[in-house]
Amino acid sequence: MFVTRFAPSPTGPLHLGHAYSAILAHDMARAAGGRFLLRMEDTDLDRCKPEYDALIQEDLTWLGLTWDGPIHRQAGHIASYNARLEALDGKGLLYPCSCTRSDIRAALAAPQEGIAFNVYPGTCRGRRMDSRKPGDALRLNLAAALEFLAAADLSFTETGPAHAGHHRVDPDAALRQIGDVVLSRKGEDIVAYFLASAFDDADQGITHVIRGEDLFDFTPVQVILQHLFGLPTPDYHHHRLIRDDQGKRLAKRDDARALSKYRAEGATPADIRRMVGLPNP
Ligand code: GLU
Repeated sequence: MFVTRFAPSPTGPLHLGHAYSAILAHDMARAAGGRFLLRMEDTDLDRCKPEYDALIQEDLTWLGLTWDGPIHRQAGHIASYNARLEALDGKGLLYPCSCTRSDIRAALAAPQEGIAFNVYPGTCRGRRMDSRKPGDALRLNLAAALEFLAAADLSFTETGPAHAGHHRVDPDAALRQIGDVVLSRKGEDIVAYFLASAFDDADQGITHVIRGEDLFDFTPVQVILQHLFGLPTPDYHHHRLIRDDQGKRLAKRDDARALSKYRAEGATPADIRRMVGLPNP
């Protein structure tokens, strides 16, 4: 059974890029006779707002998309993500990190094209878990994790047009490009996108992750986390990004491209499909 999801963060209105991602995932699920799930990645309690959660549902419904089952909201599961994370503690693969709040905040969100991903220089790597203070983040010691998983088959199947094929995780590239990711922030009970999304994909039985190409380079870290936590690896389909006239990826701040704006101006769902280059059913 093909099971996929659309996983927006309710931090702003949906724009054309989200519409493309949601319609593509929905249409692929329906064509396969599978399931299309909706997940709100709302762990950033400061930036996520119930009004955006409501607007996202309204926009998707207007587009003619229906999702199966109840909406999964990550904010309601943070204690369970943290409990599962703590279980990794005993393996010696985590360390506490007290580097600046803004660095850590940025590291918790899903990475995006155009926003530099900071590979952590390892300042706190030598710290022991028992030196953890309130407010410290927990980082994955990636080199230690890769060593721990030396015998594992760290690989994934990609069906998206730009990188179709079977990919093996290259440990050197992962260390160079991704490094010691933040997995959680103590005190504020915030868990990182990488981790919450890996747990949820497994818990929701996702067989195909359909999402923007800007996340392709970060798939290896999710594959590593899946192996560390004994989770299955789904297939991935990274799709092209919808860009503005200057070729820049659309972001939530591009309110001019908000779906609700097109909707208010009289566009139809068929117009939106045309604008993002998807066929009408
Ligand atoms: N919440 C993530 C984003 O909005 C979704 C990433 C994913 O689909 O894995 O970028």
